[in-house]
Amino acid sequence: MEFSLDLNSEQRELRDWVHGFAAEAVRPAAAEWDEREETPWPVLQEAAKIGLYGFEFLANAWADPSGLSMCLANEELFWGDAGIAMSIMGTSLAVAAIFGNGDPEQLAEWVPQCFGTESEPAVAAFCSTEPEAGSDVAAMRTRAVYDEATDEWVLNGQKAFATNGGIAAVHVVTASVDPSLGSRGQAAFVVPPGTPGLHSTRKLKKLGLRASHTADVFLDDVRLPSSCLLGGRERLEERLAKARSGERSGGQASMRTFELSRPTVGAQALGIARAAYEYALDYAKQRVQFGRPIIENQGIAFALADMKMEIDAARLLVWRAAWMGRNNRPFSAGEGSMSKLKAGEVAVDVTSRAVQILGGAGFTREHPVERWYRDAKIYTIFEGTSEIQRLVIARAISGMPLR
Ligand SMILES: Cc1cc2nc3c(=O)[nH]c(=O)nc-3n(C[C@H](O)[C@H](O)[C@H](O)COP(=O)(O)OP(=O)(O)OC[C@H]3O[C@@H](n4cnc5c(N)ncnc54)[C@H](O)[C@@H]3O)c2cc1C
Repeated sequence: MEFSLDLNSEQRELRDWVHGFAAEAVRPAAAEWDEREETPWPVLQEAAKIGLYGFEFLANAWADPSGLSMCLANEELFWGDAGIAMSIMGTSLAVAAIFGNGDPEQLAEWVPQCFGTESEPAVAAFCSTEPEAGSDVAAMRTRAVYDEATDEWVLNGQKAFATNGGIAAVHVVTASVDPSLGSRGQAAFVVPPGTPGLHSTRKLKKLGLRASHTADVFLDDVRLPSSCLLGGRERLEERLAKARSGERSGGQASMRTFELSRPTVGAQALGIARAAYEYALDYAKQRVQFGRPIIENQGIAFALADMKMEIDAARLLVWRAAWMGRNNRPFSAGEGSMSKLKAGEVAVDVTSRAVQILGGAGFTREHPVERWYRDAKIYTIFEGTSEIQRLVIARAISGMPLR
């Protein structure tokens, strides 16, 4: 479909509906859950009740042929609060991995379990990063070995920084099935609820996104029925054979998941940036120094002008990439990476300027800008750091095997 900046009535409705929930249920709860550093189950339950948390919501948003609905929903929800919003949206990373790599039966079996029920929502985790394999996905050490005798996969290894790790009903775990092939020898597995051998010991205390649970996950002789290999054995063997023969393959499990989600992640960063910009604009109109509102100083007004311009510029990149992804356009210049890189850096810059505009008040917990400043920083780190996004773009535009 053609790219358009004119939102249709369904998109506007979705945006306004999510905004309403963000304003009424998320923003007012933000400070409490940030302090508690716990998953906000009551808010999740509210989201499930109104249909904002669940597969139907994601499927409808993904179905939008323009690609924009997921961006609209994420921007609004993260405008409310990033930590709570990540608790709501974190599951979608695992669901996207099942959707992107699994077959229809796997989708039908596991996706409902990722979300739980309306009255008892569950969360899911996507576990790819490891202590020795962050940006360098090919360095993954977690091994999956097929046991012919029992028709099971046996997983051993350690995952790091997993959103919802250990508290998830369903964990989607990437593992190496053929280490000699690097990232092309990896596959994604579903670890069903209650599987022995998967455990988590350490919940991480973080700078931001504190309402979202992040933890290490250990896999000790985790035995999985062969049906837990996403996409099935035949497809895996075909992919491995291609890789062994040096032929290009469709890509490895975790990279494909990241590709699908980059503009959405950019939209999350935009939500935080917009919240901070709006708050700082209001404050600058109210706060009087030297007998006039501080916005009457060009130093402040120009900062706000730049903040607004950068947010809008980032949104254009995010929407373009979302549209390109949905409409199968080739990312010839790393446009997906561009969108996440720009939005992440804008969020860090805008929230920092917002703290500055509030002065001492901005540094205190009396105002939310300090939280937004802390939350924004993750957007230059996860889902590929800013440096890695630049690497993707530089490789795409140069055609060179840059390191
Ligand atoms: C709150 C939070 C939630 C997360 N959620 C998940 C999750 O749900 N699932 C999951 O799998 N992971 C998750 N992660 C992990 C996240 O994706 C990684 O932290 C990220 O990919 C970076 O890896 P690393 O931390 O090992 O950094 P490293 O790879 O060690 O990088 C350290 C620094 O070196 C730079 N660097 C590395 N290589 C290069 C290079 N070639 N050129 C230039 N610079 C380079 C990086 O850009 C960075 O600045 C999460 C992390 C956090 C903090």
